[in-house]
Amino acid sequence: MTIAKPALLCLNTGSSSVKFSLYAVDDHQPQRVLSGQMEGLLGQPRFKAVDAQGTILDERCWDAPKRRAEAVESILAFVRAHACGYRLTAVGHRVVLGGIEYPNAVVVNDDVLSVLDRYVPIVPSHQPAEIEAIRLLCEIDPDLTQVACFDSAFHRTKSELADMYALPLRYRDRGIRRWGFHGLSYDYISTQLPKLDPVLANGKTVVMHLGSGASLCGLVGGRSAYTSMGFSPLDGLMMGTRTGSLDPMIALYLIQQLGMTAADVETLIIKESGLLGVSGLSNDMRDLENATTRDAQLAIDLFVYMLARETGAAMAAIQGLDGIVFTAGIGEHSASIRAKACQALAWAGVAIDALLNQSPGPGACKLSTADSRVGVWLIPTDEEAVIARDTWALSR
Ligand code: ADP
Repeated sequence: MTIAKPALLCLNTGSSSVKFSLYAVDDHQPQRVLSGQMEGLLGQPRFKAVDAQGTILDERCWDAPKRRAEAVESILAFVRAHACGYRLTAVGHRVVLGGIEYPNAVVVNDDVLSVLDRYVPIVPSHQPAEIEAIRLLCEIDPDLTQVACFDSAFHRTKSELADMYALPLRYRDRGIRRWGFHGLSYDYISTQLPKLDPVLANGKTVVMHLGSGASLCGLVGGRSAYTSMGFSPLDGLMMGTRTGSLDPMIALYLIQQLGMTAADVETLIIKESGLLGVSGLSNDMRDLENATTRDAQLAIDLFVYMLARETGAAMAAIQGLDGIVFTAGIGEHSASIRAKACQALAWAGVAIDALLNQSPGPGACKLSTADSRVGVWLIPTDEEAVIARDTWALSR
């Protein structure tokens, strides 16, 4: 009798969506078999799954909202039905914050879950859904190994100074630190750089993860030394609906002088600001690039201004700049934002080939000109590949 080869499920559970990928392990190498998502759980849920070549395997929608538990259960049933010849052995979960306890991915047990529960108040937008999915799968199938892969883990290499706020030190002991996020994406980029550009891999590189959430990371020799996000995923760059860096007195002023509640301010700075708030139009960069209104242009200009300003902070923190990497939705697909960002950093010796930037082709591409003092790359990110790698390493 042949023993079925192992397969791994990677889950990225959000407040209204669950994204998933199935990896089969051959020769100790996890390879993606399929991926998909269940979106719009709070309204009219939509399910779509595609195989590794992008061919649609299933697509459906519903009129009534679905509970997250229902979504996770049906995803598990779907991947089991499609894991032909493979045996699902482990589930890797994206978890936003693992704190100082977890500088690496970890196999989940009750002790781990109680540490993760303690961090819920710091990331109420993400952490509860992620923990709920872990607990649910533990109940459904206790034999599956559950691995938590943290967005904060990659940044635990930062120096003590880069991790601090100028508050009395007792607050640091209560979790008020610059945790940093998008670590799974930065981890992936740091594994690609040695193959693509060994000089940058060993040097000082600012990676710009520009998706609906956006941050940058200053890598020194492939390790995180600085990141623009801090205590929560709000700080730093302007994002789809989040403000990015904001004087905390603004929040107090809105509450104490303008009569807003703390919940109102939370909604304003997390869900109603950023590209959406400034443009008054959309949180999607594609919509703003196609729009002709002055406020849409202002939103794009502010996005680029804050990106260049934060890059300057990163350069000072890591004491130099050998390279820039663009990644995630906007970084990978918007030639115009890449061009504007590089133009805003021309003073630092950044120059890209305009034609190549317009049509870089699929996959990783070096965009900088031969005489640019800074190497500029577009590298598509793959957070699931990092989850699969770590899940396999801890469950094999
Ligand atoms: P997340 O995983 O954080 O939801 P992504 O990395 O998928 O985000 O990025 C999503 C964002 O990327 C979209 O909101 C949109 O603003 C932007 N985006 C995607 N494609 C393009 C494009 N062709 N041009 C400009 N922006 C794009």
